[in-house]
Amino acid sequence: MTEQPAILIEGLRKVYGHGDTAVEALKDVHMSVAPGEVVGLIGPSGSGKSTLLKCLGAVIEPTAGRMVLSGQTIFDGADGGWQIPDLRALRRDRIGFIFQAPYLIPFLDVTDNVALLPMLAGQPNAASRTRARELLAALDVAHRAAAQPSELSGGEQQRVSIARALANHPPVVLADEPTAPLDSERALGVVRMLHRMAAQYRSAIIVVTHDEKIIPTFKRLYHIRDGRTVEERGEGRPV
Ligand code: ADP
Ligand code: MG
Repeated sequence: MTEQPAILIEGLRKVYGHGDTAVEALKDVHMSVAPGEVVGLIGPSGSGKSTLLKCLGAVIEPTAGRMVLSGQTIFDGADGGWQIPDLRALRRDRIGFIFQAPYLIPFLDVTDNVALLPMLAGQPNAASRTRARELLAALDVAHRAAAQPSELSGGEQQRVSIARALANHPPVVLADEPTAPLDSERALGVVRMLHRMAAQYRSAIIVVTHDEKIIPTFKRLYHIRDGRTVEERGEGRPV
């Protein structure tokens, strides 16, 4: 029996705007990602990569198609759109976001930057900080737990932002060009951590990237071109 996908997307379509100025960013996107799997999402600039992540992250509303997370349909264009009432809770509890810039909160120390999301989700402060420290240790930045974000290197900041994305143990993690500002050694370090975190926490991770150094690390890739996805086998090179 095959495992139920963490992410299933069928026939997804997204049109921005209306009439003469409408932009059809996604035409027909299909994707399936298993728990614990890391897939690459590549394609030229303007091909719809960020649009896809925003739809999946319930930040914008698709125009048509279906999105299913761990067997639960969250969006069905043929059945009125969103299928769950609280999109904010969906984003907070079931989806982790990692961006090109770390966007750490400058007046919170590293631990509280990571503990904030579990706290907002209703976890007690002490338990949230314990979980934050566990994740910081898993990402090899435990020694920076009491530091302010401004005291960290770029690579350390990005690892803290990965810890933050994983703080609520989301089944889905969406990373939009997470290694873009890093040199190749630090970029590979971040990708190594993403692969390790997917295995450890069983999160399904989609990594949007242009980065030639990290593309060979994916076992499976989706290539998006002109709003349509094509699945490709990757090298799966160990990092
Ligand atoms: P990528 O991340 O692959 O570079 P995007 O998803 O950002 O691509 O954009 C896909 C297409 O949708 C582009 O043509 C872009 O100009 C257009 N687009 C993105 N966001 C908007 C928006 N808010 N309004 C109108 N068009 C948009
Ligand atoms: Mg983009």
